[in-house]
Amino acid sequence: MFQENTAAPDVHETSAAASGCDTSRRQFINHAGRGLLAVGVASALPVAAAKAHPAAGAVLPVGGPLDIKLPPLEAPTDPKGADPFNPDAPDRRVGYALVGLGHLTLNEILPAFGKCRHARPVALVSGDADKMAKVAQQYGIKASSCYSYQTYDKLKDNPEVEVIYIVLPNSMHHEFTIRGAKAGKHILCEKPMANSAKECEEMIEACKKAGKKLMIAYRIQYEPLNRMAQKAVRDKTYGATKMIQMMNCQNQAHDQQWRHKKALAGGGSLPDVGLYCLNTTRFLLGEEPTEVSAQIYSTPGDDRFKEIEENVSFTLRFPSGVISQCMTGYGSFNNKSYTVYAETGSLRMDPAFPYHGLHQERIHAPGGKQLKETPNDPGKDQFALEMDHMAECVRQNKTPYTPGEEGLQDQRIMEAIYQSARENKPVKLPAVAKMDAFRGEAPKEEEA
Ligand code: NAD
Repeated sequence: MFQENTAAPDVHETSAAASGCDTSRRQFINHAGRGLLAVGVASALPVAAAKAHPAAGAVLPVGGPLDIKLPPLEAPTDPKGADPFNPDAPDRRVGYALVGLGHLTLNEILPAFGKCRHARPVALVSGDADKMAKVAQQYGIKASSCYSYQTYDKLKDNPEVEVIYIVLPNSMHHEFTIRGAKAGKHILCEKPMANSAKECEEMIEACKKAGKKLMIAYRIQYEPLNRMAQKAVRDKTYGATKMIQMMNCQNQAHDQQWRHKKALAGGGSLPDVGLYCLNTTRFLLGEEPTEVSAQIYSTPGDDRFKEIEENVSFTLRFPSGVISQCMTGYGSFNNKSYTVYAETGSLRMDPAFPYHGLHQERIHAPGGKQLKETPNDPGKDQFALEMDHMAECVRQNKTPYTPGEEGLQDQRIMEAIYQSARENKPVKLPAVAKMDAFRGEAPKEEEA
Protein backbone atom coordinates (compact mmCIF):
# COMPACT_ATOMS: atom_id res chain seq x y z
CA MET A 1 0.00 0.00 0.00
CA PHE A 2 2.87 2.37 0.73
CA GLN A 3 5.66 3.84 -1.36
CA GLU A 4 8.85 5.09 0.16
CA ASN A 5 9.34 8.63 -0.92
CA THR A 6 13.07 8.46 -1.52
CA ALA A 7 13.52 6.27 -4.61
CA ALA A 8 10.04 5.17 -5.58
CA PRO A 9 8.33 6.67 -8.63
CA ASP A 10 5.27 8.84 -8.13
CA VAL A 11 2.55 6.63 -6.75
CA HIS A 12 -0.07 7.82 -9.22
CA GLU A 13 2.20 7.03 -12.16
CA THR A 14 2.98 3.62 -10.72
CA SER A 15 -0.62 2.55 -10.39
CA ALA A 16 -1.56 4.02 -13.76
CA ALA A 17 1.22 2.19 -15.56
CA ALA A 18 0.33 -1.01 -13.83
CA SER A 19 -3.22 -1.08 -15.13
CA GLY A 20 -3.46 0.24 -18.64
CA CYS A 21 -6.98 -0.96 -19.45
CA ASP A 22 -8.28 0.01 -16.10
CA THR A 23 -6.74 3.44 -16.41
CA SER A 24 -8.42 4.10 -19.72
CA ARG A 25 -11.71 3.03 -18.19
CA ARG A 26 -11.10 5.41 -15.32
CA GLN A 27 -10.08 8.17 -17.71
CA PHE A 28 -13.26 7.56 -19.66
CA ILE A 29 -15.33 7.84 -16.53
CA ASN A 30 -13.38 10.92 -15.44
CA HIS A 31 -14.05 12.65 -18.71
CA ALA A 32 -17.59 11.43 -19.06
CA GLY A 33 -18.23 12.32 -15.43
CA ARG A 34 -17.81 16.00 -16.37
CA GLY A 35 -20.90 15.84 -18.60
CA LEU A 36 -24.25 14.31 -18.98
CA LEU A 37 -23.00 11.16 -20.68
CA ALA A 38 -21.44 9.75 -17.56
CA VAL A 39 -24.68 9.09 -15.75
CA GLY A 40 -26.37 7.46 -18.68
CA VAL A 41 -23.41 5.72 -20.24
CA ALA A 42 -21.66 4.41 -17.16
CA SER A 43 -24.93 3.06 -15.85
CA ALA A 44 -26.33 1.78 -19.10
CA LEU A 45 -23.31 -0.15 -20.37
CA PRO A 46 -23.69 -3.32 -18.30
CA VAL A 47 -27.41 -3.51 -18.99
CA ALA A 48 -26.87 -3.03 -22.70
CA ALA A 49 -24.19 -5.73 -22.61
CA ALA A 50 -26.49 -8.07 -20.77
CA LYS A 51 -29.22 -7.57 -23.33
CA ALA A 52 -26.96 -7.72 -26.40
CA HIS A 53 -25.16 -10.91 -25.49
CA PRO A 54 -27.58 -13.78 -26.03
CA ALA A 55 -26.24 -15.91 -23.17
CA ALA A 56 -26.00 -13.04 -20.72
CA GLY A 57 -29.34 -11.63 -21.82
CA ALA A 58 -30.96 -14.98 -21.23
CA VAL A 59 -29.85 -15.35 -17.63
CA LEU A 60 -29.54 -11.84 -16.23
CA PRO A 61 -32.70 -10.05 -15.20
CA VAL A 62 -32.56 -6.37 -16.14
CA GLY A 63 -32.08 -4.48 -12.90
CA GLY A 64 -30.65 -7.52 -11.10
CA PRO A 65 -27.24 -7.67 -9.45
CA LEU A 66 -24.60 -7.18 -12.12
CA ASP A 67 -21.33 -7.67 -10.23
CA ILE A 68 -18.52 -8.70 -12.54
CA LYS A 69 -15.10 -9.95 -11.45
CA LEU A 70 -12.01 -9.88 -13.66
CA PRO A 71 -8.65 -11.60 -13.12
CA PRO A 72 -5.87 -9.24 -11.98
CA LEU A 73 -3.80 -7.60 -14.71
CA GLU A 74 -0.76 -7.15 -12.49
CA ALA A 75 1.54 -9.44 -10.48
CA PRO A 76 0.96 -9.46 -6.72
CA THR A 77 4.23 -7.55 -6.35
CA ASP A 78 2.89 -4.62 -8.42
CA PRO A 79 0.41 -2.05 -7.15
CA LYS A 80 -3.11 -3.38 -7.50
CA GLY A 81 -5.35 -1.80 -10.13
CA ALA A 82 -9.00 -1.01 -9.54
CA ASP A 83 -11.70 -3.69 -9.54
CA PRO A 84 -14.51 -3.46 -12.12
CA PHE A 85 -16.78 -0.49 -11.47
CA ASN A 86 -19.96 -2.60 -11.16
CA PRO A 87 -22.67 0.06 -11.07
CA ASP A 88 -26.24 -0.80 -10.17
CA ALA A 89 -28.59 -0.85 -13.14
CA PRO A 90 -30.18 2.60 -13.59
CA ASP A 91 -33.61 1.49 -12.41
CA ARG A 92 -32.13 0.12 -9.18
CA ARG A 93 -30.28 3.30 -8.24
CA VAL A 94 -31.60 5.64 -5.59
CA GLY A 95 -33.04 8.82 -7.18
CA TYR A 96 -31.79 12.17 -5.89
CA ALA A 97 -33.33 15.64 -6.12
CA LEU A 98 -30.70 18.41 -6.04
CA VAL A 99 -31.82 21.60 -4.30
CA GLY A 100 -29.80 24.69 -5.21
CA LEU A 101 -27.81 24.92 -8.42
CA GLY A 102 -24.76 26.88 -7.27
CA HIS A 103 -21.03 26.22 -7.40
CA LEU A 104 -21.01 23.00 -5.43
CA THR A 105 -23.93 21.36 -7.23
CA LEU A 106 -22.77 22.26 -10.75
CA ASN A 107 -19.01 21.81 -10.31
CA GLU A 108 -18.85 18.77 -8.05
CA ILE A 109 -22.10 17.04 -7.15
CA LEU A 110 -23.80 16.60 -10.53
CA PRO A 111 -20.57 15.48 -12.27
CA ALA A 112 -19.93 13.05 -9.39
CA PHE A 113 -23.06 11.06 -10.24
CA GLY A 114 -21.01 9.73 -13.18
CA LYS A 115 -18.88 7.92 -10.61
CA CYS A 116 -21.76 6.74 -8.42
CA ARG A 117 -22.72 3.09 -8.32
CA HIS A 118 -25.97 3.40 -6.39
CA ALA A 119 -27.26 6.96 -6.92
CA ARG A 120 -28.59 8.99 -9.85
CA PRO A 121 -30.00 12.52 -10.29
CA VAL A 122 -33.70 12.56 -11.14
CA ALA A 123 -34.98 16.00 -10.10
CA LEU A 124 -33.83 19.61 -9.64
CA VAL A 125 -35.00 22.48 -7.45
CA SER A 126 -33.91 26.07 -8.16
CA GLY A 127 -35.05 29.69 -8.04
CA ASP A 128 -33.67 30.25 -11.56
CA ALA A 129 -35.90 28.52 -14.13
CA ASP A 130 -33.62 29.26 -17.12
CA LYS A 131 -30.53 27.86 -15.45
CA MET A 132 -32.50 24.84 -14.27
CA ALA A 133 -33.79 24.12 -17.79
CA LYS A 134 -30.18 24.07 -19.09
CA VAL A 135 -28.94 21.85 -16.28
CA ALA A 136 -31.91 19.53 -16.78
CA GLN A 137 -30.95 19.13 -20.43
CA GLN A 138 -27.30 18.52 -19.57
CA TYR A 139 -28.18 15.70 -17.20
CA GLY A 140 -31.26 14.32 -18.92
CA ILE A 141 -33.70 15.32 -16.19
CA LYS A 142 -37.35 15.59 -17.19
CA ALA A 143 -38.95 19.07 -17.28
CA SER A 144 -41.73 17.65 -15.12
CA SER A 145 -39.11 16.87 -12.44
CA CYS A 146 -37.93 20.49 -12.14
CA TYR A 147 -39.31 22.51 -9.21
CA SER A 148 -39.05 26.02 -7.78
CA TYR A 149 -38.57 26.72 -4.07
CA GLN A 150 -42.33 27.35 -3.94
CA THR A 151 -43.33 24.08 -5.65
CA TYR A 152 -40.62 22.12 -3.76
CA ASP A 153 -43.22 20.35 -1.62
CA LYS A 154 -44.64 18.71 -4.77
CA LEU A 155 -41.61 16.39 -4.68
CA LYS A 156 -43.97 14.40 -2.48
CA ASP A 157 -45.75 13.22 -5.65
CA ASN A 158 -42.56 12.24 -7.49
CA PRO A 159 -41.89 8.56 -6.77
CA GLU A 160 -38.53 8.65 -8.57
CA VAL A 161 -37.11 10.89 -5.82
CA GLU A 162 -36.02 9.04 -2.70
CA VAL A 163 -33.34 11.42 -1.38
CA ILE A 164 -33.28 15.22 -1.37
CA TYR A 165 -29.76 16.70 -1.35
CA ILE A 166 -29.88 20.25 0.08
CA VAL A 167 -27.12 22.48 -1.30
CA LEU A 168 -28.43 25.92 -0.34
CA PRO A 169 -27.03 28.75 1.82
CA ASN A 170 -26.69 27.56 5.43
CA SER A 171 -29.71 29.43 6.81
CA MET A 172 -32.00 27.56 4.37
CA HIS A 173 -30.97 24.03 5.43
CA HIS A 174 -33.41 24.02 8.35
CA GLU A 175 -36.52 24.95 6.34
CA PHE A 176 -35.75 22.73 3.37
CA THR A 177 -34.90 19.71 5.51
CA ILE A 178 -38.16 19.97 7.42
CA ARG A 179 -40.25 20.52 4.26
CA GLY A 180 -38.41 17.66 2.54
CA ALA A 181 -39.05 15.26 5.41
CA LYS A 182 -42.72 16.27 5.40
CA ALA A 183 -42.76 15.47 1.68
CA GLY A 184 -41.75 11.93 2.68
CA LYS A 185 -38.14 12.00 1.42
CA HIS A 186 -34.79 11.12 3.00
CA ILE A 187 -32.46 14.10 3.41
CA LEU A 188 -28.78 14.58 2.64
CA CYS A 189 -27.93 18.09 3.87
CA GLU A 190 -24.77 20.07 3.21
CA LYS A 191 -22.57 21.24 6.06
CA PRO A 192 -22.88 23.19 8.29
CA MET A 193 -26.11 21.45 9.23
CA ALA A 194 -27.80 24.74 10.25
CA ASN A 195 -27.17 28.04 12.01
CA SER A 196 -27.99 26.93 15.57
CA ALA A 197 -28.20 23.80 17.71
CA LYS A 198 -31.93 24.45 18.11
CA GLU A 199 -32.43 24.32 14.34
CA CYS A 200 -30.39 21.09 14.19
CA GLU A 201 -32.59 19.52 16.88
CA GLU A 202 -35.73 20.49 14.96
CA MET A 203 -34.34 18.97 11.74
CA ILE A 204 -33.54 15.70 13.52
CA GLU A 205 -36.99 15.64 15.09
CA ALA A 206 -38.74 16.32 11.77
CA CYS A 207 -36.91 13.48 10.01
CA LYS A 208 -37.55 11.12 12.92
CA LYS A 209 -41.25 12.00 12.93
CA ALA A 210 -41.48 11.37 9.19
CA GLY A 211 -39.54 8.09 9.52
CA LYS A 212 -36.87 9.41 7.13
CA LYS A 213 -33.07 9.34 7.25
CA LEU A 214 -31.00 12.47 7.74
CA MET A 215 -27.35 12.57 6.74
CA ILE A 216 -24.95 15.53 6.86
CA ALA A 217 -22.60 15.73 3.89
CA TYR A 218 -19.26 15.42 5.71
CA ARG A 219 -17.42 14.19 2.61
CA ILE A 220 -14.05 13.92 4.40
CA GLN A 221 -15.40 11.06 6.53
CA TYR A 222 -15.92 9.03 3.31
CA GLU A 223 -12.62 9.97 1.61
CA PRO A 224 -10.11 7.08 1.50
CA LEU A 225 -6.89 8.90 2.55
CA ASN A 226 -8.63 10.53 5.51
CA ARG A 227 -10.13 7.14 6.39
CA MET A 228 -6.61 5.64 6.30
CA ALA A 229 -5.48 8.42 8.64
CA GLN A 230 -8.38 7.59 10.97
CA LYS A 231 -7.38 3.90 10.94
CA ALA A 232 -3.74 4.76 11.78
CA VAL A 233 -4.91 6.88 14.71
CA ARG A 234 -7.42 4.33 15.97
CA ASP A 235 -5.00 1.38 15.51
CA LYS A 236 -2.23 3.38 17.23
CA THR A 237 0.06 2.61 14.31
CA TYR A 238 2.55 5.11 15.74
CA GLY A 239 1.49 4.74 19.38
CA ALA A 240 -0.90 7.07 21.15
CA THR A 241 -1.82 10.34 19.48
CA LYS A 242 -0.61 13.28 21.56
CA MET A 243 -1.39 16.42 19.56
CA ILE A 244 -3.12 17.46 16.36
CA GLN A 245 -2.72 20.64 14.39
CA MET A 246 -5.25 21.61 11.73
CA MET A 247 -5.53 24.54 9.36
CA ASN A 248 -8.26 25.44 6.86
CA CYS A 249 -8.11 28.91 5.40
CA GLN A 250 -8.78 30.64 2.11
CA ASN A 251 -8.92 34.20 0.81
CA GLN A 252 -12.52 35.16 0.04
CA ALA A 253 -13.61 37.17 -3.02
CA HIS A 254 -14.50 40.79 -2.26
CA ASP A 255 -18.13 40.50 -3.34
CA GLN A 256 -21.56 40.48 -1.80
CA GLN A 257 -21.87 36.71 -1.50
CA TRP A 258 -24.17 35.13 1.07
CA ARG A 259 -21.15 33.76 2.95
CA HIS A 260 -20.43 37.30 4.18
CA LYS A 261 -23.97 37.81 5.55
CA LYS A 262 -24.54 36.54 9.08
CA ALA A 263 -28.25 35.85 8.60
CA LEU A 264 -27.54 33.52 5.67
CA ALA A 265 -24.18 32.01 6.68
CA GLY A 266 -24.60 31.87 10.46
CA GLY A 267 -20.98 32.93 10.92
CA GLY A 268 -17.77 33.39 8.97
CA SER A 269 -14.81 31.09 8.49
CA LEU A 270 -15.75 28.86 11.46
CA PRO A 271 -18.98 27.23 10.22
CA ASP A 272 -17.72 27.15 6.64
CA VAL A 273 -14.09 26.00 6.45
CA GLY A 274 -13.19 25.86 10.15
CA LEU A 275 -15.80 23.15 10.56
CA TYR A 276 -13.47 20.78 8.68
CA CYS A 277 -10.86 21.15 11.44
CA LEU A 278 -13.43 20.48 14.15
CA ASN A 279 -15.23 17.62 12.41
CA THR A 280 -12.08 15.92 11.14
CA THR A 281 -10.40 16.01 14.56
CA ARG A 282 -13.49 14.35 16.06
CA PHE A 283 -13.60 11.83 13.20
CA LEU A 284 -9.93 10.85 13.60
CA LEU A 285 -10.13 10.40 17.37
CA GLY A 286 -13.71 9.13 17.83
CA GLU A 287 -13.70 11.05 21.12
CA GLU A 288 -15.59 14.22 21.98
CA PRO A 289 -13.88 17.35 23.33
CA THR A 290 -14.51 18.29 26.96
CA GLU A 291 -13.18 21.84 26.74
CA VAL A 292 -12.65 24.49 24.07
CA SER A 293 -10.82 27.80 24.11
CA ALA A 294 -10.78 30.26 21.24
CA GLN A 295 -9.74 33.64 19.88
CA ILE A 296 -11.30 35.55 16.99
CA TYR A 297 -9.85 38.39 14.94
CA SER A 298 -11.18 40.27 11.89
CA THR A 299 -9.21 42.93 9.98
CA PRO A 300 -10.75 46.35 10.75
CA GLY A 301 -12.19 48.13 7.71
CA ASP A 302 -12.41 45.00 5.55
CA ASP A 303 -15.96 45.01 4.13
CA ARG A 304 -16.09 41.23 4.00
CA PHE A 305 -15.93 41.01 7.76
CA LYS A 306 -18.52 43.59 8.79
CA GLU A 307 -21.01 40.89 9.80
CA ILE A 308 -18.96 37.71 10.06
CA GLU A 309 -15.59 36.76 11.53
CA GLU A 310 -12.37 36.45 9.54
CA ASN A 311 -10.03 34.29 11.66
CA VAL A 312 -10.69 31.81 14.44
CA SER A 313 -8.07 29.97 16.44
CA PHE A 314 -9.51 27.27 18.68
CA THR A 315 -8.13 24.52 20.86
CA LEU A 316 -10.00 21.32 21.64
CA ARG A 317 -9.12 19.19 24.68
CA PHE A 318 -10.07 15.49 24.67
CA PRO A 319 -10.52 12.99 27.52
CA SER A 320 -7.48 10.96 26.35
CA GLY A 321 -5.32 14.05 26.79
CA VAL A 322 -5.05 14.86 23.08
CA ILE A 323 -4.93 18.57 22.32
CA SER A 324 -6.04 19.69 18.87
CA GLN A 325 -5.07 23.19 17.81
CA CYS A 326 -7.12 24.50 14.89
CA MET A 327 -6.92 27.68 12.81
CA THR A 328 -9.32 28.88 10.18
CA GLY A 329 -9.47 32.08 8.18
CA TYR A 330 -11.22 33.87 5.33
CA GLY A 331 -8.47 36.37 4.48
CA SER A 332 -5.28 34.39 4.00
CA PHE A 333 -3.86 32.25 1.22
CA ASN A 334 -5.36 28.80 0.72
CA ASN A 335 -4.07 26.17 3.14
CA LYS A 336 -5.97 23.00 4.01
CA SER A 337 -3.79 20.66 5.99
CA TYR A 338 -3.29 18.79 9.25
CA THR A 339 -0.67 16.88 11.19
CA VAL A 340 -1.23 14.17 13.78
CA TYR A 341 1.65 13.89 16.24
CA ALA A 342 1.88 10.44 17.86
CA GLU A 343 4.47 8.75 20.07
CA THR A 344 6.58 7.11 17.36
CA GLY A 345 5.59 8.91 14.20
CA SER A 346 3.63 11.72 12.62
CA LEU A 347 1.04 11.69 9.86
CA ARG A 348 0.49 14.72 7.66
CA MET A 349 -2.34 15.39 5.22
CA ASP A 350 -1.42 18.28 2.94
CA PRO A 351 -3.71 19.07 1.36
CA ALA A 352 -6.34 17.37 3.48
CA PHE A 353 -9.66 19.03 2.62
CA PRO A 354 -9.94 19.95 -1.11
CA TYR A 355 -12.18 17.98 -3.45
CA HIS A 356 -9.28 16.40 -5.36
CA GLY A 357 -5.53 15.87 -5.16
CA LEU A 358 -5.19 14.97 -1.48
CA HIS A 359 -1.81 13.84 -0.20
CA GLN A 360 -0.65 11.96 2.88
CA GLU A 361 2.84 11.54 4.32
CA ARG A 362 3.91 9.55 7.34
CA ILE A 363 7.24 9.95 9.08
CA HIS A 364 8.62 7.44 11.56
CA ALA A 365 11.96 5.87 12.38
CA PRO A 366 11.85 2.06 12.67
CA GLY A 367 15.24 0.82 13.90
CA GLY A 368 16.43 4.41 14.20
CA LYS A 369 16.31 5.09 10.44
CA GLN A 370 13.92 7.86 9.46
CA LEU A 371 11.40 6.85 6.82
CA LYS A 372 8.88 8.89 4.86
CA GLU A 373 5.96 6.91 3.46
CA THR A 374 3.20 8.02 1.11
CA PRO A 375 0.07 5.87 0.84
CA ASN A 376 -1.42 5.54 -2.63
CA ASP A 377 -4.39 7.81 -3.16
CA PRO A 378 -7.18 5.64 -4.63
CA GLY A 379 -8.40 8.89 -6.26
CA LYS A 380 -12.08 8.24 -5.56
CA ASP A 381 -14.64 11.01 -5.89
CA GLN A 382 -15.66 12.10 -2.38
CA PHE A 383 -19.13 13.21 -3.41
CA ALA A 384 -19.80 9.92 -5.22
CA LEU A 385 -18.73 7.97 -2.12
CA GLU A 386 -20.92 10.11 0.11
CA MET A 387 -24.00 9.86 -2.15
CA ASP A 388 -23.52 6.11 -2.62
CA HIS A 389 -23.28 5.69 1.16
CA MET A 390 -26.61 7.48 1.63
CA ALA A 391 -28.14 5.36 -1.16
CA GLU A 392 -26.94 2.17 0.55
CA CYS A 393 -28.37 3.37 3.88
CA VAL A 394 -31.74 3.92 2.18
CA ARG A 395 -31.67 0.54 0.44
CA GLN A 396 -30.50 -1.37 3.52
CA ASN A 397 -32.30 0.72 6.14
CA LYS A 398 -29.11 1.71 7.98
CA THR A 399 -28.24 4.87 9.91
CA PRO A 400 -25.79 6.98 7.89
CA TYR A 401 -22.25 7.26 9.25
CA THR A 402 -22.74 11.03 9.58
CA PRO A 403 -26.37 11.46 10.67
CA GLY A 404 -28.03 14.64 11.94
CA GLU A 405 -26.67 13.97 15.44
CA GLU A 406 -23.13 14.38 14.08
CA GLY A 407 -24.03 17.82 12.68
CA LEU A 408 -25.75 18.80 15.93
CA GLN A 409 -22.66 17.92 17.99
CA ASP A 410 -20.48 20.11 15.75
CA GLN A 411 -22.98 22.94 16.07
CA ARG A 412 -22.92 22.67 19.88
CA ILE A 413 -19.11 22.77 19.88
CA MET A 414 -19.05 25.75 17.49
CA GLU A 415 -21.40 27.62 19.82
CA ALA A 416 -18.97 26.88 22.68
CA ILE A 417 -16.07 28.15 20.52
CA TYR A 418 -17.88 31.46 19.92
CA GLN A 419 -18.71 31.69 23.64
CA SER A 420 -15.08 31.11 24.61
CA ALA A 421 -13.86 33.85 22.25
CA ARG A 422 -16.55 36.24 23.49
CA GLU A 423 -15.83 35.61 27.17
CA ASN A 424 -12.09 35.16 26.67
CA LYS A 425 -11.99 31.99 28.77
CA PRO A 426 -12.20 28.21 28.23
CA VAL A 427 -15.67 26.65 27.98
CA LYS A 428 -16.40 23.16 29.31
CA LEU A 429 -18.46 20.67 27.31
CA PRO A 430 -20.43 17.67 28.62
CA ALA A 431 -18.30 14.51 28.79
CA VAL A 432 -19.26 11.80 26.26
CA ALA A 433 -17.84 8.42 27.24
CA LYS A 434 -18.83 6.42 24.15
CA MET A 435 -16.55 6.38 21.10
CA ASP A 436 -18.15 7.56 17.84
CA ALA A 437 -21.16 8.48 19.92
CA PHE A 438 -22.91 10.42 17.18
CA ARG A 439 -22.05 8.25 14.15
CA GLY A 440 -23.98 5.49 12.42
CA GLU A 441 -22.61 2.44 10.67
CA ALA A 442 -19.23 2.99 8.99
CA PRO A 443 -19.19 2.86 5.17
CA LYS A 444 -18.43 -0.55 3.70
CA GLU A 445 -14.85 -1.18 2.60
CA GLU A 446 -15.84 -1.13 -1.08
CA GLU A 447 -17.37 2.35 -0.65
CA ALA A 448 -14.27 3.72 1.08
P1 NAD B 1 -23.45 28.98 -4.01
O1 NAD B 1 -23.62 30.39 -3.61
O2 NAD B 1 -22.54 28.69 -5.14
O3 NAD B 1 -24.87 28.33 -4.36
C1 NAD B 1 -26.00 28.54 -3.56
C2 NAD B 1 -27.26 28.34 -4.36
O4 NAD B 1 -28.37 28.70 -3.55
C3 NAD B 1 -27.32 29.22 -5.61
O5 NAD B 1 -27.81 28.48 -6.70
C4 NAD B 1 -28.30 30.32 -5.23
O6 NAD B 1 -29.03 30.81 -6.33
C5 NAD B 1 -29.22 29.58 -4.26
N1 NAD B 1 -29.92 30.47 -3.35
C6 NAD B 1 -31.20 30.35 -3.00
N2 NAD B 1 -31.55 31.32 -2.15
C7 NAD B 1 -30.49 32.10 -1.98
C8 NAD B 1 -30.25 33.27 -1.22
N3 NAD B 1 -31.19 33.83 -0.45
N4 NAD B 1 -29.03 33.83 -1.27
C9 NAD B 1 -28.05 33.26 -2.00
N5 NAD B 1 -28.22 32.13 -2.75
C10 NAD B 1 -29.43 31.56 -2.73
O7 NAD B 1 -23.02 28.19 -2.70
P2 NAD B 1 -22.31 26.77 -2.65
O8 NAD B 1 -20.84 26.96 -2.57
O9 NAD B 1 -22.84 25.86 -3.68
O10 NAD B 1 -22.76 26.30 -1.17
C11 NAD B 1 -24.04 25.74 -0.92
C12 NAD B 1 -23.99 24.91 0.37
O11 NAD B 1 -23.04 23.88 0.21
C13 NAD B 1 -23.56 25.67 1.62
O12 NAD B 1 -24.26 25.18 2.72
C14 NAD B 1 -22.10 25.35 1.77
O13 NAD B 1 -21.63 25.41 3.10
C15 NAD B 1 -22.05 23.95 1.25
N6 NAD B 1 -20.75 23.61 0.65
C16 NAD B 1 -20.19 22.43 0.98
C17 NAD B 1 -18.98 22.06 0.42
C18 NAD B 1 -18.41 20.72 0.71
O14 NAD B 1 -17.26 20.48 0.36
N7 NAD B 1 -19.14 19.79 1.30
C19 NAD B 1 -18.34 22.92 -0.47
C20 NAD B 1 -18.95 24.12 -0.80
C21 NAD B 1 -20.17 24.46 -0.24
